[in-house]
Amino acid sequence: MRPYSLIAPAKINLYLEILGDRSDGYHELAMVMQSVALADQITLRANGTARIQVFCDHPDVPADQTNLAYRAADLMANTYAEAYRQFGGVDIRIDKQIPVGAGLAGGSTNAAAVLVGLDLMWGIGITQIELQDLGAQLGSDVPFCIAGGTAIATGRGEVLSPLPPVDQLYVVLAKYQSLSVSTAWAYKTYRQRFEEAYIREGDRLSDKRNAMKSGALVSAIDQADHGQIGKRLYNDFEKIVLEEHPQVAALKAAMAACDPLGCLMSGSGPTVFALAETQEQADRIATEVRSVIPDSDLKLWVTQLYHHGIHLAPH
Ligand code: ATP
Repeated sequence: MRPYSLIAPAKINLYLEILGDRSDGYHELAMVMQSVALADQITLRANGTARIQVFCDHPDVPADQTNLAYRAADLMANTYAEAYRQFGGVDIRIDKQIPVGAGLAGGSTNAAAVLVGLDLMWGIGITQIELQDLGAQLGSDVPFCIAGGTAIATGRGEVLSPLPPVDQLYVVLAKYQSLSVSTAWAYKTYRQRFEEAYIREGDRLSDKRNAMKSGALVSAIDQADHGQIGKRLYNDFEKIVLEEHPQVAALKAAMAACDPLGCLMSGSGPTVFALAETQEQADRIATEVRSVIPDSDLKLWVTQLYHHGIHLAPH
């Protein structure tokens, strides 16, 4: 059986608002998600055993059963036991380009690629909706990663409404290599911070629902108004992460000083991104940020918005 190689793009959040609590322990979110061209490559190969094995070239990514790619294959094997019996175990090779623990959904997009890839390899023909339902069992960002492009994500992030593709804007991503933020920490800290505020203001988390509006960003996307897209970027997690990590606040300030269309922290951080109209502008932003912050721990990428989710790698 031939190996299958898939492209697994990262995502950024153009908008992330925490609307409130849910009885299942998750948070109710309103997000605008966007794929970027920075991607991992996942290769699936039948290994002639009954085992699922993960190989990853990045030292911070576990190669055991906690790897989201492993969990995705295990879920497929349990859900489609007949196909698993027929085709046997699989080796999953992850070529990591997406920084880890960065707010760019690196693990989620790897899981999404395994779901799509095993469906192809085993010839099952699962619909995208069914794949996304499976993906939601692994993580809230997995359904978006399968479809990719530009989308509103509500619920805990798994309820998707596609948006028209934003033109080929360029993206500068910046992350301190040694700094990661755990999403669990970010939610916990956000809650604590806001619970203090509720007591002070007599407010409640659930009352914050619809306090902010993603509508202005969505109509800017609808009208392909790049200036407004840049101005309407928003992320609830920024306040706590930038406060906890002043170097990320300084990084965002350095980016903002370069006059991009807009800049924002992605997800629960700590990656900060800037949007630019042209590659030249993006390169200039990256160069200026580098000159203001010459720290070798700071990594910068110039990439583009991407209009696809998981797809087969070109030969
Ligand atoms: P999100 O944006 O969805 O919150 P993230 O980009 O912040 O995710 P990931 O890169 O997905 O974070 O990694 C979070 C943790 O998940 C890592 O510390 C790592 O130990 C673990 N992990 C498990 N599987 C993977 C994988 N395939 N790739 C990267 N990290 C993984």
